Parts: sequence; structure tokens; C-alpha cells
Amino acid sequence: MLQYKRSSELFHQAQQVLPGGVNSPVRAFNAVGGNPVFVEYAKGAYLYDADGNKLIDYIASWGPLLFGHAYAPVIEAVTERAKRGTSFGMPTEVETEIAQKALSMVPHVEKIRFVNSGTEACMSAIRLARGYTQREKIIKFAGCYHGHSDSFLIAAGSGATTFGVPNSPGVTQGTAKDTLLATYNDIDSVKQLFAAHPKQIAALIIEPIAGNMGCVLPKEGFLEALRTLCDQEGTLLILDEVMTGFRLAKGGAQEALGIRADIVTFGKVIGGGLPVAAFAARNEIMDHLAPLGAVYQAGTLSGNPLAMSAGLAMLTEIEKRSDVFESLGKKTAYLHEGLDRVLTQAGIPHQINRFGSMCSVFFTEEPVTDFASAQRADHQRFKKYFHAMLSRGIYLPPSGYESYFLNDALSYADLDTTIQALADALEKREI
Ligand SMILES: *Cc1c(COP(=O)(O)O)cnc(C)c1O
Repeated sequence: MLQYKRSSELFHQAQQVLPGGVNSPVRAFNAVGGNPVFVEYAKGAYLYDADGNKLIDYIASWGPLLFGHAYAPVIEAVTERAKRGTSFGMPTEVETEIAQKALSMVPHVEKIRFVNSGTEACMSAIRLARGYTQREKIIKFAGCYHGHSDSFLIAAGSGATTFGVPNSPGVTQGTAKDTLLATYNDIDSVKQLFAAHPKQIAALIIEPIAGNMGCVLPKEGFLEALRTLCDQEGTLLILDEVMTGFRLAKGGAQEALGIRADIVTFGKVIGGGLPVAAFAARNEIMDHLAPLGAVYQAGTLSGNPLAMSAGLAMLTEIEKRSDVFESLGKKTAYLHEGLDRVLTQAGIPHQINRFGSMCSVFFTEEPVTDFASAQRADHQRFKKYFHAMLSRGIYLPPSGYESYFLNDALSYADLDTTIQALADALEKREI
């Protein structure tokens, strides 16, 4: 059983100066308890922590590291670029190069704007949609995450109202009233919102494969029905591909699922592990953006050459190694089958949702198709599962509401080690 002594000392120090000891809440392990693991370095599929433990990584920095940690082509691109200066606040050629590359890989988009985080990309995408349609309301789905900007931190209102309510202090009622909440995989919930607010809805935003309530797949025909409704209402369909873009296929979920978006947001893989995100659409929409159009959006470090070089190297490698998606899909299926087999043998109720290189284990008998069913899973058992695996050197997402992200540096031996760790923990009745 691995020990995490030095990590817990580092966490104690961090808590004196960083709120909760972290710069992003999920890292603090609140959902599973215990102390987070402090990383020293990582290579390929492995994390090496402050206690000298070696861990098999299933989060890949929450998605970006499709080929594993410290991937040579990305590291070389960044180090070479850094020698020539890291930021200018002036145009650089590499911004055009990555834009051309990204647009050639993704269907239905003609221009792209780079930003620094998925939050910024989604926030800007809805401003653009509102500017373009001259409408104010948006629809989002309970359990989908689109970053931490005010319009998205909204919970379902009372039964009497279709308006959302803030789910974080600091978000105003004024903002909340413009975000309408629908239920994932429930087309009637969307129809009701459109009927109650005819021709008032600027955009509908969705994770085409949800990853932020655990991995949840759209039912057959659901996304197509949303597309049709949006067309009827003159509402823009925003696919939030911050997680799925360049991970499920080179053209993301649009390609993998054959669905057309009006605006697409990217993050995670597009930066190869540096802070990059983007939003893209056809010209008619993107030309509303400043300085061409009136919808304002800007960023001092947007299109930063260091970050662009990392992203360009990543996208170039994806094109070169285009079998990576198939390879990852097979590995993820192998892991799924292995975990499923040992959980079934132990008689533990569970569901495993999977698409491409994303998957999640839910401890429940009931299929998980939306946020409510994800919430009904046994999250106490998830905690035990998480810690049993961590003590055996397997680093899973520290919450039952997150997806695993496989990276292609993972070997079948690593997957076997992971499945064996679960079998061992079950045998010892730790879960
Ligand atoms: C991670 C994520 C975001 C937010 O991106 P940040 O870079 O963390 O701001 C938005 N949407 C989805 C689907 C995400 O997974």
C-alpha cells in the first residue's frame, strides 16, 4: 500500500496560502476525502509524486494529454519556441498555422478565435450567439459544465418557474433569469423551454458526450432532435467540445456522431497541455466578432506563441498518428470489460458508461442517462473505490462525477495492473 506522507505535508503548507490548498476545487479531493497527491513530474502514462510513488494516470490533466505526459514533439516545440521569446502582444505566424490546421480537421467551421481557457471559450461563444441572434436567453443542461462564468453556474429553479437560479453565491438573479435549464436526454424538457420562450433563445449549449456528471452518452436521436429544434427556432446550437474536441476523433463529436454545430468550443487537447482554448463557427457568425464586428472579445495572452506551438505540435501529431483514436477506443473498451468483469464477479451493482477514450464507473443498478441518475449512484462506495485504487498506485478522477481520460501511452500491461488492483481491493472487501 503506497504512502502519501510528503503530499500531505505539502497540502498542509498549500492550505495556508491557497484557498483550500488548490487553484481548482476538484484537486482538493473534497468529493473523496483525504489529501491530494502532489506531482513531481510525469512521463508517458505515469505520474511520479512527492513521496516517490509511481502512479498510473487516468486523468491526463483532465483530458489534454492524448499521447501521455511530456510527449516529445510537444516538449520540443515549446522549448524551441521559448528561446525566441514567450509573448509579444503582437501577431505571430504560428497563430495562423494552428488556425489553418484546426479548421482543416474540424467540420462546419471557417474561422476560429483562440483564448486561454474553456471557460473563456464558452463565455465568449454565448456572447457571440447573443450578439448574432439579438436574443438574450440560453438553454443549458443540468449536469453539463461549461466553465465557471456566471451564466453557466445555474441550478434548476422551482417547479413553478422555468428560470434557473444561481447555484453559487455571487451569481446574480439578473444573470440567472437568462439561463434556462433542461434535462439531458429528455427532448420534451427542451421543447417545453422553447414553447415557453418562443424566438427568445439565442443558443442551446451542450456537451455532445457529457463528461462532467461522469461520462453520460446522448441517447440515439437526441442530438439530432436538438439540431432540428434549433433550426426551427433560429437558435444557435453550441457544441461544447472542450472535452471531446480532438479526443473522440480529429473532428471531435461533430465527426464521431455526425452532428453539425453552429458554434464549437475547444480546450484541453487543443493546447497539448498548455492553457489554450478556442471557439469556432462559420464566417457569417464569426465575422460578428471584434475587430470585424461589434461583439467584443479580447485577451492579452490569447494566441500566446508558446501555447500555440504546443497546440500546433499536438494537432500535427494527431494528424500523423490518426490511428490514435482507434487505439484509444480499444484500450478503453479493454479497461471497461476488465472492470466490468471483476465488479460483476464480486456482485457489486455498477454501470460503466464509455465512448471513445472517455469512461466512468457508477455504482448503481440503474442506467445513468442524466444528472439525476448520476446523483442516485452510490458515491460513498465511489470514495472507497477511489482510495482502494489510489493506495495501489492507480490515479482515477477524484469524484464520481468525472470521466476517465485515457492516454495512448497506457499499455495493456498498465490496464491489466489496473483491473488486477480492483480485483485485489474487492477480494479484501475494501469496496
Ligand atoms: C473543462 C471544461 C470546460 C472548462 O474549461 P477550463 O479550461 O477549465 O475553463 C468547459 N466545458 C467542458 C465540457 C469542459 O470539460
